[in-house]
Amino acid sequence: MLIKFQAPGPWWSRGVQLLWLLPQAQVETETENWDLAVLVEEGNQELSLTVTNGNFREQRVVPARPWEYLQALFLMLSQYSLGPISPWGVLTGVRPGKIAAGLVDKLGPAKAVEELCEKWLLHLDNARLLVAAVNNGYPLLREKGLCLYISVPFCPSRCDYCSFASLPLDRWRGKIDSYVRQAAAELKELLLACRRYGHLVNSIYVGGGTPTALSPRQLEELLAPAAGWECEFTVEAGRPDTLTREHLAVFKDAGVNRISVNSQYPEDRTLAAIGRRHTAKQFYEALDMAVSAGLGIVNSDLIIGLPGQTPEGFAAVISRLAAAGAGNITIHALALKRGAEIRQQYLDGAESRAIAAAAYARMDELGFQPYYLYRQRNMASNLENVGFGLPGSYCYYNIASIAESEPVLGVGAGAASKLGRADSFISLVNPRDVNQYLARCEDLLQRKLNWLQVDKQSRP
Ligand code: SF4
Repeated sequence: MLIKFQAPGPWWSRGVQLLWLLPQAQVETETENWDLAVLVEEGNQELSLTVTNGNFREQRVVPARPWEYLQALFLMLSQYSLGPISPWGVLTGVRPGKIAAGLVDKLGPAKAVEELCEKWLLHLDNARLLVAAVNNGYPLLREKGLCLYISVPFCPSRCDYCSFASLPLDRWRGKIDSYVRQAAAELKELLLACRRYGHLVNSIYVGGGTPTALSPRQLEELLAPAAGWECEFTVEAGRPDTLTREHLAVFKDAGVNRISVNSQYPEDRTLAAIGRRHTAKQFYEALDMAVSAGLGIVNSDLIIGLPGQTPEGFAAVISRLAAAGAGNITIHALALKRGAEIRQQYLDGAESRAIAAAAYARMDELGFQPYYLYRQRNMASNLENVGFGLPGSYCYYNIASIAESEPVLGVGAGAASKLGRADSFISLVNPRDVNQYLARCEDLLQRKLNWLQVDKQSRP
């Protein structure tokens, strides 16, 4: 749907986030052939809003204040759409957990839910889910310390829905040994500096790409500097077709205590339709192997909005994962982003919402609690990504990174570092291109080492 949106300065950037919630919305400021026009005119301390498509026309005048403006625009677009344009109300373009955590701190959980519904216009179920996630996750955050993220950007093949920086393993095979050597050296220097300057390491997270696309020997070399470090230590074995017993032995020796084995949805028809080159059987075998390895917590990711899914089928998959020993299950909603093969959602909004309702109900029946939640643009049916876990199995790294509560040191190509404290972070991103990373790593590492030293000196 082509939307012509005209609004002065900051009203445009605030309002466009709500317009993007409309299905297939494409927003232009100047266009002749629009399907919907949204016009905002500024008067003397007031705004005049008009939403029209020719047949439908609604006009309102509100005080020129952000709250009144966003609420009026949300309600007018919902009137045009014959129902709320999002169950997340005007809580869009911001981190929902941060807003909810502030409200819970100030008002307590019950009043926070009320405020989210009345002021932010959330659906009651969404407000409850968000406050539950904040209540479970936020109390675990630590005042001191930092996290480390290690990037392994290679994958054996590209999934159709992927918009990550994933590099084809075959094309980069000749460079991987150099990459591993360089990233291991970067990790070693950063950990030595953490020890030297007394920084606590709360969590080490190895993500991708697909870390297990590397051979066991390469992973052993990469993880060696972190071996024996006493903290949460996670490795994503994203693609089950890459995980072997030899990988698991390497992880055990290194002290890895969380592993993620993912299918996104273990049904053969779905896997084939989204370009995952493995079967459901391979996934369940890899999951069993990971659980039997006795590393600690096993996580598995699912995505709502893939072809062939039904509410009953999705709930049954969750039960099977839990029975197989997954203590953590993350439920994402398919987000369409630039870089992905697919251009439109596989399922319609009502189907995705029904699946989410069945999935969350099954989680609850099995004793899994939500403990972090975040949203992205273009998610199936304006849903959300939610981390669920059995008590005691929550992933610290995910809670802290979504809350943006502590510094992160990034290692490897494309890894982002967040350097700073108390909501004032400087972002430093290693080049995504492996050759660029190898060329520029020293300089970027030095800046992280300097920050570790300065941050230590500036604290009591
Ligand atoms: S395994 Fe993950 S990172 Fe790799 S191509 Fe598939 S979705 Fe992308």
